[in-house]
Amino acid sequence: MGWFGRLLVGVTKRMPRFMISFVARRYVAGSDVKSAVKVMKRLSSEGACFTVDVLGEEITSIEEAEFFTNEYGQMLDAIIEHELDANLSIKPTAFGLLIDEEKAYSNIEQLIRAAAEHDIFVRLDMEDHRVTQPTIDILLAMHAKGLTNVGAVLQSRLFRTAGDIDAICTALGDAADFRLCKGIYLESADISETRYQPIVDAFCGHIDQMLDRGAYTAIAGHDIPVIKHALASLKSRGLGPAANGPRKGKGPGYEFQMLLGVRGNIRRRLAKEGHRTRIYIPYGERWYEYSMRRLDENPDVALHLTKSILMPWTNRR
Ligand code: FAD
Repeated sequence: MGWFGRLLVGVTKRMPRFMISFVARRYVAGSDVKSAVKVMKRLSSEGACFTVDVLGEEITSIEEAEFFTNEYGQMLDAIIEHELDANLSIKPTAFGLLIDEEKAYSNIEQLIRAAAEHDIFVRLDMEDHRVTQPTIDILLAMHAKGLTNVGAVLQSRLFRTAGDIDAICTALGDAADFRLCKGIYLESADISETRYQPIVDAFCGHIDQMLDRGAYTAIAGHDIPVIKHALASLKSRGLGPAANGPRKGKGPGYEFQMLLGVRGNIRRRLAKEGHRTRIYIPYGERWYEYSMRRLDENPDVALHLTKSILMPWTNRR
């Protein structure tokens, strides 16, 4: 990140809270279940489905995990009540993974079991490198208990990802279900790619690897070269809206996922072409902390924000 980018992050972080709130409104679906449901109902007309994230992550006491367990429980009830085509995205550290592993497993299992009763999928968001393996371990442990409505996220910037795809596909067979993304956490050069092009190249390679292994592949991102590569890869494998994927009875075997408020025009075009598109819906009272943390973790977010305010045509709602 050059001096100009650093300047933007500095300026963004010094904005008054009401201004941050104004900007965040586009990217965060409100502070409670009701507002998130409203946003999903509105966006359903654009042919999208959803994955819902209760804002917040690493907690400092195991009691805080109760908040997330309850809030996700309420969101699950709302998805069922309003018959939304939505699943859940959870962050294992918010359930206590770094404080009390046993309790975290039991909290997560409780939610996945409740979701399984209604055939609702749960995605384990991927956090920073400290919890990559522990998150994969949760995934494998849940599948070993017969809970197959759960999948993980892998980050293409990490060197280990090709090995992880291989290991998870070997362990889970056609129950392997991934979200693939670049990875928002800027990891060090000894464990990850740090430059744009190698990350894009790795992302494209991982898409191909997942498709070739017959895993459900959710391509999460807004970068045009990656989306173009994914479309070409699907076509060359005979996969697409009208074709059945390798996983019998489970649809086309892939989907595109994007963040709420980001590049809606591309998402709508993909949906119009018949591809499954899913919008990541973050909501919750902790939207301010979430926004600040994203700026800290990855200063590019400030660049994207500024670009979308000053050049709205680059990021249509
Ligand atoms: P970029 O090159 O960063 O962006 C391409 C273009 O998209 C930009 O030029 C800009 O116009 C637009 N854009 C991208 N992001 C924004 C933004 N925030 N605001 C405004 N415009 C933007 N990362 C994880 O580490 N773990 C996860 O579990 C995880 N889950 C994700 C789930 C979904 C559905 C998505 C879409 C992303 C997720 N990410 C996750 C984040 C991901 O790793 C990337 O950091 C993020 O998507 C930016 O990469 P990009 O592919 O959009 O490409």
